[in-house]
Amino acid sequence: MNNNSNFKKWLTDLQLNHPLVIAGPCSAETEEQVMATAHLLKDTDTTFYRAGIWKPRTRPGMFEGVGVVGLPWLKRVKEETGLKTATEVANAMHVEQALKFDIDLLWIGARSAVSPFIVQEIAEALQGTDKIVLVKNPVNPDLPLWLGAVERLYQVGIEKLGVIHRGFSSYHEKVYRNKPKWPLAIELRKQFPDLPLILDPSHICGKRELIFEVCQTGLDLNYDGFMIETHVDPTVAWSDAAQQITPQRLVEITRDLRVKQPESHETDYLKQLTIFRKELDQLDQNLIELLATRMQIAEQIGKLKQDKNVTILQSDRWNQIMDNMISSGTQRGLSTEFIDKLFKAIHLESIQHQQKVK
Ligand code: PEP
Ligand code: MN
Repeated sequence: MNNNSNFKKWLTDLQLNHPLVIAGPCSAETEEQVMATAHLLKDTDTTFYRAGIWKPRTRPGMFEGVGVVGLPWLKRVKEETGLKTATEVANAMHVEQALKFDIDLLWIGARSAVSPFIVQEIAEALQGTDKIVLVKNPVNPDLPLWLGAVERLYQVGIEKLGVIHRGFSSYHEKVYRNKPKWPLAIELRKQFPDLPLILDPSHICGKRELIFEVCQTGLDLNYDGFMIETHVDPTVAWSDAAQQITPQRLVEITRDLRVKQPESHETDYLKQLTIFRKELDQLDQNLIELLATRMQIAEQIGKLKQDKNVTILQSDRWNQIMDNMISSGTQRGLSTEFIDKLFKAIHLESIQHQQKVK
């Protein structure tokens, strides 16, 4: 797989004048629920109607999807509304059944993307089709594993590819159900600029109230589109009830999002941008010089400690620096999280410089 491949062709061929929208319920529950939701999505920005037929649930005993009986419902959606259809596949049998019912887009879920065996099995079952296949990020933030899954599909000849960022599970996280890792998506973009990048705010947020702002962040980072769980009556959904939205809310969200241009060639804008960028470049240079000076002083401290046979790490002093910097930084509008990360990195580098002293 190389980064010159024309992965985006399937997306440009759709000729949308807005970001791609894949919408529909977490799970297909009943024929009525599937049809009612689809009819409400018919005249929205939605291109693909999603519905989970087989549901990977965290614990047994939860609703695990209706299975193959739901596939004719999706066929009916396509016939009655003209929406294209999409579902998750997690093994060769799912692929075989989904292809039989002419599902247009298949995605590999986060729990399957972690397993090279499963991905390989799915890829081989897909060989010879020209369906669109999207790979969700694995539950753990491992970019090579995510890209490896895409490569397995590419190797069997699938070219209509894309990835979905649905966030990463983490034990301590409070705000999100699955924390987004924007830098990872930016890195992926850098390596494969042409690979469509879709955002799944539903599984990131876990609650519908946060969906709008996460979508806006996605657009600000040039995402190509969204997969958003949408249900005719989210409150009674059989799975992921708290994060699903109504078709009406979906329309409001797509209406209110600010879609921006990747670039502008307007002269005044470019002039002003150049001025600001020069200032930033100078400040970045100053930062490097300050950091270098800081490390030279750290080395002198290292020498002093060495002479007196004192340990390098002194936790009290370090905690005091961190507290001072967080208080000073937050007063100037910098976030605690940023100061914490920055000074941990500075401290580590400082320790390494002190260790270098002979
Ligand atoms: C889903 O899209 O319904 C789903 C199960 O997602 P994920 O694989 O991201 O958990
Ligand atoms: Mn779901």
